Amino acid sequence: MKKTQLAGGVTGASRGIGRATARALSAAGFQVFLVADGSREELDAAVTECNTESPNKLKSQWGIFDLERADVAQAIVEATLKAFGRLDVLVSNAGIRIRKPFLNFTADDFNKVISVNLRAGFLLSQAVVPAMRAAGGGRIIFMASQLGIVADSGAALYGLTKAALIHLARSLALELAPEGIIVNAVSPGPIATEYYEQRMQREPELRQRRLDAIPLKRLGQPEEVAEVVAFLATTSATFIHGHNLVMDGGFVIR
Ligand code: NAP
Repeated sequence: MKKTQLAGGVTGASRGIGRATARALSAAGFQVFLVADGSREELDAAVTECNTESPNKLKSQWGIFDLERADVAQAIVEATLKAFGRLDVLVSNAGIRIRKPFLNFTADDFNKVISVNLRAGFLLSQAVVPAMRAAGGGRIIFMASQLGIVADSGAALYGLTKAALIHLARSLALELAPEGIIVNAVSPGPIATEYYEQRMQREPELRQRRLDAIPLKRLGQPEEVAEVVAFLATTSATFIHGHNLVMDGGFVIR
């Protein structure tokens, strides 16, 4: 009998945590649809990595979609179904940061960050339900942050989107359970992605501040987050539901 090839969609998969997550899902035997809004070269390279990782030589695919637009959620699901015929896992990972003192935020900042970090995951979660229902269930994983739990100066807007994602995971865990859809959030602490490395170059004291606050005295790696997401996306994690899995080297325990 032919083994079912599971399929996943990962947003923000052109680099950083999303790209590592796409690789990890590929290594776990998924076909992956990688979504971002930037360069084709980055996405080509990310898909090549996925194909290399795939144990069964599956071909992943990519699509360029701007998650600031509300109408792309349905289009992403349709493109994934066209590519693979099914959609078992959604990793809503894309996120942007605008760091400013609270009083300097504008309404445009608010709309931009909310649309990418929160509305996209909300609308994608609605759009994936028919496909997951047809497959007899599925998994939705939101990339939240430790900053959805603790506050940081300059991160009022980013933090509220991440706190909202943690809540959204709980709400959907209740409402989508009858569909067989398992929903969780993952909240990383500082992870050594390109974004974070560039920030630490601009703010040299930031690395030491973070190391002082993290009991494990190091930043996390994108692959460590990806492994946790892949664990939540695999069949062995069927009783973890509505959870916010914090992985921050111990940052938030103080
Ligand atoms: P990153 O390197 O900045 O990558 C962000 C990804 O999102 C890119 O693939 C980017 O692709 C995509 N993206 C941004 N705006 C988009 C839009 N309008 N439409 C479609 N795609 C868009 O981020 P990261 O550091 O890997 O973080 C990934 C996620 O983890 C984010 O949600 C972040 O908040 C969360 N997180 C990160 C850390 C950390 O320390 N790095 C800690 C906690 C949580 P394009 O630019 O090509 O569109």
